[in-house]
Amino acid sequence: MARLKIENSSRFGGRFGPLSANINFFLADRVYTGDGRCLPNTAVAVNAQTAQIEALLPAAQAPNARYQPGSLTPGFINAHGHLELSHLHGHFPQHTGLVPFLEAVTRSRGADQETIEKHMQAAAQTLQANGIVAMGDIANTTASIALKLSSTLKFHTFVEVFGMSEQGWPAGLERGLPVLDAFRQAGLAASLSPHAPYSVHPALMQHIGQTSAGLPISIHMQESPEETKFFASGEGAFPSFYRNLGIPVSTPAPGSSSLQTTLSALPAGQRLLLVHNTCATNADLELADHSGHDVFWCLCPGANRYIENRLPELALFRRYPDRVLIGTDSLASNGTLSVLNELQQLLQADPALTPELAIQWACGNAARFFGWSDLGTLEPGKRPGLLHIHPGSDHSPIGAGSSVQVII
Ligand SMILES: [Zn+2]
Repeated sequence: MARLKIENSSRFGGRFGPLSANINFFLADRVYTGDGRCLPNTAVAVNAQTAQIEALLPAAQAPNARYQPGSLTPGFINAHGHLELSHLHGHFPQHTGLVPFLEAVTRSRGADQETIEKHMQAAAQTLQANGIVAMGDIANTTASIALKLSSTLKFHTFVEVFGMSEQGWPAGLERGLPVLDAFRQAGLAASLSPHAPYSVHPALMQHIGQTSAGLPISIHMQESPEETKFFASGEGAFPSFYRNLGIPVSTPAPGSSSLQTTLSALPAGQRLLLVHNTCATNADLELADHSGHDVFWCLCPGANRYIENRLPELALFRRYPDRVLIGTDSLASNGTLSVLNELQQLLQADPALTPELAIQWACGNAARFFGWSDLGTLEPGKRPGLLHIHPGSDHSPIGAGSSVQVII
């Protein structure tokens, strides 16, 4: 078999000798490596059989590379979704605010197993077609186990528990533990996770932290002004939401925000993904940064617009470039499951956000959070997937109308 002799300079991360003939070379106008860099005139060499990245090398050294205009990126990681809610696509009106949205989901999330599974399968296909190679998925039941065992997507399942009242939270824990066991017995990565500060009692939060020691957990955080109000004064829409459900409400301790309450209930050093952060302030980000926990922030602009019709203050999150991830949330609160679509919204809303940083959020940061060392960055030896992003009508790399094509 013919061998192609390629000089792999250390600048391009090469650590292999001559590349063998079953290597495909891909070239575009720029390569986003997934760790915050953007390389011009660079070809990506990929092993056609193993999908392993073999080298990044100067375009001149890969004369037979397949060129397409646009950008190359690693496969995307969707850090937050709910496959179990896929059958609720388009069921709920937009811009109602969080509490009416939760009321609607609580009323009508049920469906037969066959319907739920059919829609989860279709959602998984959508994820893959949109270049997503791995996902952090929230589960309340075991419904997604069969799909996760057969899918080529990689998953971490956050088994989500609820239990707000002093008397009721042990029952919430007892509902979650068998679901967690079922995922683990199936050989799937999973951890117990709290739903949100307004739905999980601090004592339950503590138990979750102990059960999930050393594992990543996630929590919906500061998604609505009602959450801020509930923690500040015990008032707002949440008390009546719980009364209508017949759940006794334990009023949060006065003077402690939802974020403070959560951070202080968890064991020190917890790896934690705070999801949404629509109402987070600079003081909140600093509090988390100095909390002694390993905190990451997940932005889900599509769902924020769908439910609350607002976005987090994005400039705050750019100050923590290594700590931000991207999620689509579920089809109950988003039109589609596309990380590219989420990035387009962020880049449009925040002109100071660069495509290389946005791609880092969607790739390298998420791989670090989940501990997926094979994914997230285009580095020799890894198998992160490879995407081609075709520029949109405005010619910007990830502008409106840009589209994603899965190369490997
Ligand atoms: Zn969610």
